[in-house]
Amino acid sequence: MGVLLKIALAVGVLSFITFVALFGQLPALRKTPIGWLQRVLCLHIPNGMRAIDRHTTGGRITIKSKRLGRYLFYEKNPIVLIIFLALMTGSAVLFLWNAIPELPTRLIVPIPFLVSQPYLFTWLCVRHNDHYITPSNHTDRLHDYPYDDALFSANNICSTCNLTKPARSKHCSLCGTCVAMCDHHCPWINNCVGRGNYRYFLALLLSLGVMDLYGAYLSYWLLQPWFKLHRGGGFFTQQYWDDTFQVMVIAINAGGLSIAGVGMLTIATAALPFGLLGYHCYLIWAGMTTNESQKWADLREDMADGFCFKGSREELRTHQRLRKYGHGSAGHANGGGNPALHAWSDETEVHIPWPVSSDQIVVRTMDGRPPRGQEALWRQVWSLNDVENLYDLGGWDNFAHMLKGN
Ligand SMILES: [Zn+2]
Ligand SMILES: [Zn+2]
Repeated sequence: MGVLLKIALAVGVLSFITFVALFGQLPALRKTPIGWLQRVLCLHIPNGMRAIDRHTTGGRITIKSKRLGRYLFYEKNPIVLIIFLALMTGSAVLFLWNAIPELPTRLIVPIPFLVSQPYLFTWLCVRHNDHYITPSNHTDRLHDYPYDDALFSANNICSTCNLTKPARSKHCSLCGTCVAMCDHHCPWINNCVGRGNYRYFLALLLSLGVMDLYGAYLSYWLLQPWFKLHRGGGFFTQQYWDDTFQVMVIAINAGGLSIAGVGMLTIATAALPFGLLGYHCYLIWAGMTTNESQKWADLREDMADGFCFKGSREELRTHQRLRKYGHGSAGHANGGGNPALHAWSDETEVHIPWPVSSDQIVVRTMDGRPPRGQEALWRQVWSLNDVENLYDLGGWDNFAHMLKGN
């Protein structure tokens, strides 16, 4: 119990420090001991250490740690991936080394398959680079999705890649390139999750969760002779819980770090891949990527502030043609310098085959007033319920589209 108690204590202290650092700044906790601890931890201790460093080394450690921080958090590096693989491999070897001799064949048979899957999908996620937008595949990526003129509009050029941004793409500063159908940059795989490797990422989450649960089941199976020592009794009685605690202590002692420790680790960590998988299933069902969910949230805030207007593509097209005919100038057709109207122009529109079509154009204006000179064509929108999501093909069709790897 000695080693396990120390591990449990270390995990508890680390969890508490993480909690304080992350949540101590929240307004509700700011004036509590948690908020006070957060300021000590994140402000006073680092300031004190910087002052000591200034006096002793002339600030060299501060400069080096800043450089390390930038490398860890703002540059593409495999450190998290290495830690993840080391933790997974270490736990699996420690557990299997001690568990295999005790297990019957029927429980050993699924192990090679279940343990190999997370490695396979990690490898597929890490090595994938088809989603990077390059001059050679740029035209193809432009034809993957139409612009919805709500979150993505034509003629946005990436200043780093110097290429027009395709709909649903995003420039990743860590990968240093625009990424097609970008979901998010994942440090665990040291790569962006996007077009083509999103399905492998979900398979990785699923395989990790299943492996964790099977590991937890095996450690339960190995420890269950000890659980039989439980004398039963009513669930709500003191004796039941005293017994449960004693049996747990005996079982953990008997199993040791390799069986009981890894078993507890698998139960604790299974929630993470399953939770993330559930969140991504929700996003797919709703027809959006993580990147787009943030864009929708921004749009919702701008709507609530009264800066968003919705127009009809068809009406605007007619209007622009009439103005162009009347004035003979494309500049006037764009609305005479009104920034909101540059979000859409009939002339730059390319037809891309897509199962869903939408007549809607959503613009944000700087002053909360409809685009000048076209007040009659735009209607103020206050809620996301009033706008369509062009990329939502409908629950199951969204899943089918994702599984195809597009
Ligand atoms: Zn870019
Ligand atoms: Zn990236």
